[in-house]
Amino acid sequence: MDFKVPIVKALSRKDVNRAADIFRERVDSAGLKMSYPIPIMDILEFGYLKKLYNYEWRTESMQSGLKGYTEFVERELVLSEETYEGASAGNSSCLFTVAHELGHVVLHDRQMTNRLYEQKEIVKLNRGNIEAFKDPEWQANEFAAAFLMPFDQVRKILTENNFFPETEISFEFGVSDIAASIRIKNVLKELKKDPSFRPEGLF
Ligand SMILES: [Zn+2]
Repeated sequence: MDFKVPIVKALSRKDVNRAADIFRERVDSAGLKMSYPIPIMDILEFGYLKKLYNYEWRTESMQSGLKGYTEFVERELVLSEETYEGASAGNSSCLFTVAHELGHVVLHDRQMTNRLYEQKEIVKLNRGNIEAFKDPEWQANEFAAAFLMPFDQVRKILTENNFFPETEISFEFGVSDIAASIRIKNVLKELKKDPSFRPEGLF
């Protein structure tokens, strides 16, 4: 297995947010009405990945530590049985992994010939010095966060100056507290670039 992470076309966080918004709209227009938490397994189970990207998906028994992989030549998204079962039971970390894989399909289709494996630790060690914006794993993580927690909705929650935005976001979007707090930090970074956004107390 080749665990080296290849370089892909650079995408900014804003680009990835836009790609996630477009993907959500495409799934919605194709017939799976979007509600939150996003019914992410329905995208697979009801054939939307096939319909929109011509990718098959399946599960596979994998060695421990492997969560799944995206196969770009055969056009397949493969989940470990553990990831699939966890995601089906609503486990937020497994659902995030599925969203991450969708990110590889949406962002990296036709850019990649190698399989991208999802692992718990090893990928980090093989990253080397890839700049974040050209790193397919950084992009897929940003995509997963942006897909599950839409930028505009997170902005709205932050603008309403909720005292516990993390709790609200993790509840509303079915993500872990850690995923919610990382998303808040990253959305705020983007909002700081926008001079029209200056609610009291946020910065
Ligand atoms: Zn990945």
